[in-house]
Amino acid sequence: MSNPIKAIVIDKQDDNYTAALSTINSDDLPNENVLIDVLYSTLNYKDGLAITGKGPVVRSFPMVPGIDLVGTVTSSDSAEFKSGDHVILNGFGVGEKHWGGLSQKAALSSDWLIPLPANLSPKQAMQIGTAGYTAMLSVIALEKQGVTPESGEILVTGANGGVGSFAIYLLSQLGYQVTAATGRMEQADYLKSLGATNVIDRNEFSNSGKPLQKERFAAAIDSVGSHTLANICASLKYGGVVTACGLAQGMDLPASVAPFILRGVSLMGIDSVMRPKADRVEAWDRLASLVNADYLDKISTEINLDQVIESAEQLMQGQIRGRVVVNCQS
Ligand code: NDP
Repeated sequence: MSNPIKAIVIDKQDDNYTAALSTINSDDLPNENVLIDVLYSTLNYKDGLAITGKGPVVRSFPMVPGIDLVGTVTSSDSAEFKSGDHVILNGFGVGEKHWGGLSQKAALSSDWLIPLPANLSPKQAMQIGTAGYTAMLSVIALEKQGVTPESGEILVTGANGGVGSFAIYLLSQLGYQVTAATGRMEQADYLKSLGATNVIDRNEFSNSGKPLQKERFAAAIDSVGSHTLANICASLKYGGVVTACGLAQGMDLPASVAPFILRGVSLMGIDSVMRPKADRVEAWDRLASLVNADYLDKISTEINLDQVIESAEQLMQGQIRGRVVVNCQS
């Protein structure tokens, strides 16, 4: 029997791109092996691009956006999940080529799902979302390269962004000394309250620089790319490590090989979208042990499905700080 479901639906007819809160039928859901009541989703930058049509995120129409979700399994053909289980989904092209989380229900492949860690609530999982999960993957990559709190100062770029602010918080929880690079120096006190010991202007890294510069940082977590990433490579100490997950400044990398061949610097790429399940479970278990409820409440606001379109516009205009959690059942 088909039941009405509230969902954000993006469509494109000729050149007319639309996104609206709509009613779909349960029969319309994709043919995947796990059916989920979505409890919470989030608004990531990628969701903002999809909803406003400002970026080519959506690959087929009509599309339900939402690259993150947490929910309760209501039926499953998979031995891995049973009715009543709480599950998390991040990425795997959901909200881009498969229908996503900004809906009361979702049908997803069991291959994409991981269990919600026991000590996280569903809402907390979405307060963390892809931003926190990607920051955690970045921190784990530094650890696997042997970076410890004793190694020295860690630089985090895009500091006020979702990934950057989580990276600052997670590193400081683990005892690292963190320098935050931001274009919003007026937010320095906020960044210090997250755990940054030092806040610097991102302009120091924004323009073309020398191939080798003063050795300043033991490691870095970069979500900015372009000249910023090139200058970070040039400023790492001998044997330093930088993770690269984003392109907030640009997709280019106008760098030289000098830091790699003369200082043994390592550049680690971070992709959260197609990440294997074992890495996802490791990252979420670490997140569950590191984040505290007060921090998550401080950095996030909750909205309903009917506020999503307006909030996506505000997100694209840079008017939102922190995480937006979408309550999909209220
Ligand atoms: P946000 O939009 O929340 O934050 C990006 C931050 O980058 C901004 O807050 C700003 O920080 C800084 N920034 C913006 N423009 C520039 C610029 N021109 N030069 C230097 N810094 C700039 O994005 P997220 O944190 O969610 O994501 C960051 C990047 O990581 C994005 O490119 C995103 O696509 C990518 N990403 C990649 C993932 C992956 O799997 N590889 C997963 C998640 C995100 P401030 O104001 O402090 O300067």
